[in-house]
Amino acid sequence: MVLSSVLGFPRIGANREVKKAVEAYWANKLSADELTKAAADVKKASWTSLKERGVDLIPSGDFTLYDHVLDHSAAFNVIPKRYLGKGLSPLDVYFAMGRGRQAGDVDVPACEMKKWFDSNYHFVVPEFSEETEFKLNFNKALEEYREAKDLGIITRPVVIGAVTFLALGKAAKDARPGFQPMSLLPQLISVYKQLLVALKEAGAESVQIDEPILVLDSASLYEKQFAQTYAELAPVSPKLVLTTYYGRLDSNVNFVAKLPVAALHIDLDRAPTQLDEVIAAVKPTNLVLSLGLVSGRNIWKTDFQAALKLGQKAVEALGKDRVIIASSSSLLHTPVSLAAENKLTAEQKDWFAFALEKASEISIIASALSGSQDPKVAEAVEANRVSIAKRREFERNSDATVRNRVAAITPDMLERKSPFAVRKEIQQKQLQLPKFPTTTIGSFPQTKEIRQARAKLNKGELSQEEYEKFIEKEIENVVRFQERIGLDLLVHGEPERNDMVQYFGEQLEGFVFTQNGWVQSYGSRYVRPPIIVSDVSRPTPMTVHWSSYAQSLTSKPMKGMLTGPVTILNWSFPRADVSRELQCKQLALALRDEVIDLEKAGIKAVQVDEPALREGLPLRKADWDAYLSWALPSFKIATAGVTDALQTHSHFCYSDFDDIFPSIQALDADVISIEASKSDMKLLNTFKHYGYSNQIGPGVYDIHSPRVPSEEEIKERLAAMLSILPSELLFVNPDCGLKTRGWAETEASLINLVNAARWARQTY
Ligand code: GLN
Ligand code: ZN
Repeated sequence: MVLSSVLGFPRIGANREVKKAVEAYWANKLSADELTKAAADVKKASWTSLKERGVDLIPSGDFTLYDHVLDHSAAFNVIPKRYLGKGLSPLDVYFAMGRGRQAGDVDVPACEMKKWFDSNYHFVVPEFSEETEFKLNFNKALEEYREAKDLGIITRPVVIGAVTFLALGKAAKDARPGFQPMSLLPQLISVYKQLLVALKEAGAESVQIDEPILVLDSASLYEKQFAQTYAELAPVSPKLVLTTYYGRLDSNVNFVAKLPVAALHIDLDRAPTQLDEVIAAVKPTNLVLSLGLVSGRNIWKTDFQAALKLGQKAVEALGKDRVIIASSSSLLHTPVSLAAENKLTAEQKDWFAFALEKASEISIIASALSGSQDPKVAEAVEANRVSIAKRREFERNSDATVRNRVAAITPDMLERKSPFAVRKEIQQKQLQLPKFPTTTIGSFPQTKEIRQARAKLNKGELSQEEYEKFIEKEIENVVRFQERIGLDLLVHGEPERNDMVQYFGEQLEGFVFTQNGWVQSYGSRYVRPPIIVSDVSRPTPMTVHWSSYAQSLTSKPMKGMLTGPVTILNWSFPRADVSRELQCKQLALALRDEVIDLEKAGIKAVQVDEPALREGLPLRKADWDAYLSWALPSFKIATAGVTDALQTHSHFCYSDFDDIFPSIQALDADVISIEASKSDMKLLNTFKHYGYSNQIGPGVYDIHSPRVPSEEEIKERLAAMLSILPSELLFVNPDCGLKTRGWAETEASLINLVNAARWARQTY
């Protein structure tokens, strides 16, 4: 029998129950017990619905209240000392690590967060040092296994693999110089043993052990560590299913196929071509092969014919009992269910499969490969064939104007008229910014009132006119606030935007939207990615009205604010029938027109955010050039259509620039802002090393946490930055936009920021 399996399920609840419960707990409106109960309800619903859909191997232990890597750190006692001894309950220590805590006399910043592989999910980075003492504080996999079993549902527990856990972590600040987290592997293995032995004793037949770092180039360095880990764990564990996802194993398959595990999972959505090589490597062994045929990353219906062909190939080579059909990765990157979407047309709905629909697909494909005679299976296969054919039909309707415009892009469209040094002077004459200009990344708090107004507009309880009046008032407040506290380069605050990608998608041709298609970005922050379904173009200006209005209120310069083409692409669900390059260039042309229109309307600075540029970078270095060869030009197409006088800004939400630095330089933005408050100064040394000469605003405080940075703290950051970077290059700004923050902390933080910049002007 070919079994079916899901590697992980969205943890947010069908109606964002987890967000609601977690945030209510933070606001002291829900007790810890009530939070546990809310979580249990969501887990139960997920397990039950997977079972109903016929999935054989249902995951447990993949649930989380904030982040599954953070859960793992807490469980293994990888808790930095600064969170301990403060009288916090384990749950509050956990949340303090995730989001910082500032209450009573406790004041600790959050741990660093990083993007999870090439996705828009963020994980909390584990911190290791020679003082790390692993112990099992709790066994989440075991607890959830039992929780499901009590409901009559047998699950396959999910655990992050030991090598991946260490490889994703970093050396703590107080670790000895040169300390390598991987050196802790022997101690860590013994705690894994405890965890796995307990699962075995509880009756778990197999355990899914996630080692996604196996799809990275760096994994080959850990061949020995993998061998050692699994040689020790396999004999005491339930059957181990080693999972890899988001990419291909490449030559790593040679040592992976020799590991003493029971099964190997590969991602055939991202890397379908690896199948032959992997089959060849596992054939002589006893390994079961789990085929990730149903995408955990996109929302398109699986083409059953294509999937069955790959599945059949594996069945022929290995036999039915050695093949499992699975999601390519956890389904955490997809929305829970299509069922509640009633604004999509029937035609559109028929193109998609969200997590629950994917679960059904997996179970059908497995049944079909098993040779099931159930007429329902044959019906489902036939229905899929019809759906896929209809979508292919739709895809033939391309927009000739857009396609021709992309084909006619010329190299001169990518370059500004003059070099930065010339532009800088012209811009400074217009903008008249002081030394160490202060600015923000764009958004100001998206308050409950703003969200309510938008909800009322959508329900028809507020007219378009009333809504716009409301937004004008918000913009005016934000402008007056910035003037009052003395910021130099102002923004309008983005109150009219539900989301930095969705807002643009809604105004562009080629996108559709869900009502409930939420996916987790980090912690309790979820996003609702738009879906690109056809060629993209801009029917009318998108932001000119609001930016002009904001500029009309003030004599200070107003920065226009756009989301860049690469980010719109990466944070949407892209179409699967044409290349990402084509989609990105279509977006770039639409944005180019917008930037030009902003300049025509009198706006003197425009920021084009590209926080997702880096996360879109392929996981394997060999694939980078192919990506950068269209991603960088796309940004340049969007920003280079203007005169030298327009100051272009870009923003990046991350700090590992080491390996992509030349690309950032090549963007030639006049000013870039980057995340820097939580990383050490290594980042700025990279800028120095490459002689970066355009202007730069390394964030001076972390906005992911409600904590208010003191003026002293910001001064120290500035002083450290100025010890590395030339003073004439420096802008002073927070790490990122302020939309998730409250007003009180925003005001207090920005006042400290402005004062610190004033101090710097006098001191440097
Ligand atoms: N302009 C956006 C904002 O301020 C940028 C956010 C981001 O880069 N993630 O919200
Ligand atoms: Zn950002």
